[in-house]
Amino acid sequence: MSLTTVRKWYPKALTSIDTVNRLLDTIERELGLKPHQLMHADSMCCDDVNAIQYPPRAYEMLGPFHLGGLDGFPFAGITGMNAFAHHVPEDGAVLVFYAPHIGITKDGNIGEIHRIGQSSNSACCGAAKGALGKLLNNEIIEGNVTDLDYQQNTIEQIFLKQANRIKAASNKIFEATEVMYEAIDMRMEELVKKTHYPCKYVLLVGAVFINGDKDMGSFCEYKKFDCLNLETGVRESLLKAYYQ
Ligand SMILES: [Zn+2]
Repeated sequence: MSLTTVRKWYPKALTSIDTVNRLLDTIERELGLKPHQLMHADSMCCDDVNAIQYPPRAYEMLGPFHLGGLDGFPFAGITGMNAFAHHVPEDGAVLVFYAPHIGITKDGNIGEIHRIGQSSNSACCGAAKGALGKLLNNEIIEGNVTDLDYQQNTIEQIFLKQANRIKAASNKIFEATEVMYEAIDMRMEELVKKTHYPCKYVLLVGAVFINGDKDMGSFCEYKKFDCLNLETGVRESLLKAYYQ
């Protein structure tokens, strides 16, 4: 029932539990690597709901090293990437999972969830919704990035660059989340290029992480699952193998 509701927006979504099972199965089948050989970094929103709804089997991997700040943008930057990259088992792989997040309620409302102990719904992702509200009110000033609210201001600038696209969308928070995914993906590709990995593989998994109401759990739709072989320089997508 819940998955059906989520799939109206994200047709390829799976529960987070199934997502991690498939991820680890695919890696073992295709690369022969076990979870304890994988150094896992995530770039997800620091929202407490992501800790509450984090898929337990992900802890079979080493880590996670958290690269993310608000809405999953990799604010830890090059220093963060280099730090965890040097913690990888030599016979293993680095796995970076990155995703903006979005709430979907049981009733199918997107951009909000029902949290534990609260009587009404609240925004999810709150940072994305805050930036979207400012965008729609034309309150974002180009180039305005402050020390006091650096991460939020960065998200505002990302949305401002895609203002027309977001404003024209039939569902603005859905579209803003797509914009956020693309910005995170682009930044991650840049960071990966600038990082040295003392191992054989780098696995890049880009997705949208979907939070349900308190009793729904979470869901995930993969957009990218790439394997970079550092010895041969060959890059291939494991997305087909993942969905088979
Ligand atoms: Zn968030």
